[in-house]
Amino acid sequence: MSCRGCVWTMTDFAVMTANEDKLRHFLVAHHVLADVYYCDQCHMECRIDKNRKLFRCDRRETVKVHGGRTKVTKRHSFSKSLVAGTWFDKQKFSQTTICRICSLWLILPHPRTVLICRELSIGKKKCDRLEFILSGSLSILD
Ligand SMILES: [Zn+2]
Ligand SMILES: [Zn+2]
Repeated sequence: MSCRGCVWTMTDFAVMTANEDKLRHFLVAHHVLADVYYCDQCHMECRIDKNRKLFRCDRRETVKVHGGRTKVTKRHSFSKSLVAGTWFDKQKFSQTTICRICSLWLILPHPRTVLICRELSIGKKKCDRLEFILSGSLSILD
């Protein structure tokens, strides 16, 4: 498995996807995920809240009112999912599982969904759903 600039063995890739930080780094480097997001309210760069998996901004803003005679300080709150607008948004599978599904999909010959599900311990119901998704959106890869 390779792309421009890096080469992966299947095993190394699978191991890497188990590490949340390494996987995020990989996905950012490959432009799947964004590493910066700008606050809708102050347009400054958000900080990353790793625990809650959010881009957040809660800066204080001082606004002058009454013709500049009074200053009011407000703390605003802005947050956006780290994966908003990507494949990983609102998925039932973890990022690790999604990346493993994709890599197995690219390597195994057709028909592969049942094999992928067995490999990743995905149950029957989710496997059927996966078959539906993969046969539609990824059929271009066949
Ligand atoms: Zn690469
Ligand atoms: Zn802000």
